[in-house]
Amino acid sequence: MNDSTALVTGANKGIGKEIARALLAAGCTVLLGSRDAERGQRAVDELGGGARLLVLDVTGEDSIAAAASRVERLDILVNNAGISVGAGTPAEATADELRRMYETNVFGVLAVTNAFLPLLRRSAHPRIVNVSSGTASLNGAGQFPVTGKSAGYRSSKAALNALTLYYAQALGDGFKVNALAPGLRRTDLNARAAASDGDPAEAAAGAVRLALLPDDGPTGGFFSWDGTPMPW
Ligand code: NDP
Repeated sequence: MNDSTALVTGANKGIGKEIARALLAAGCTVLLGSRDAERGQRAVDELGGGARLLVLDVTGEDSIAAAASRVERLDILVNNAGISVGAGTPAEATADELRRMYETNVFGVLAVTNAFLPLLRRSAHPRIVNVSSGTASLNGAGQFPVTGKSAGYRSSKAALNALTLYYAQALGDGFKVNALAPGLRRTDLNARAAASDGDPAEAAAGAVRLALLPDDGPTGGFFSWDGTPMPW
């Protein structure tokens, strides 16, 4: 058990809510990020003691600044909030779709991370977990066949992976900054998920492993939910 304080963005449902639940079970105080206060409060009520609502729209400059000003301590940042718009090949995708996904999946992560960095720098064991996607892997074409579908979404997560690596390099060894491929999960985001696809709770274990890495743990890595290193 530990006494870390963690922020999980987009934690009112789906994988984020399960990550929040698992971090609470590990003993953390959890700031449950939600862009909608009512939806967030429902999740806080469900998760019970140790969870606190933090209203946070990762695409809103003012929302991010207000959220950061309400937090006094942070050890773990889980950048989980993400969207998927359209599911087309590059030829079918529109710039507007890509722009919307990049706003949340890339620029949102950058803005939230930078806003909370001053607090993370004060932590003895700062950890950042970026929830990416196995489909973002550029070198894993054999393992994760490139079907050409969801080209915009996949490219936004590839950009997130690049940011993960650069943050790890820039922040140095005290920080652990890693990307997580949570696996195919039944959530609102994943309309294609079948009943046989994984429970979001299973993905949470992978996030918690990266959130609670020991000081000699890896940084600048890309890992599957089960801990297997993923090809960039
Ligand atoms: P859900 O749609 O269930 O949850 C997404 C969460 O992100 C919701 O809480 C949503 O809030 C929040 N969110 C979206 N936009 C914003 C924003 N601007 N500010 C704050 N919160 C926001 O999806 P998942 O749980 O599946 O997705 C979680 C993460 O996992 C995403 O990054 C996704 O890309 C990734 N992922 C998911 C996979 C899967 O199979 N499900 C596979 C690979 C990666 P609201 O309820 O208000 O919309």
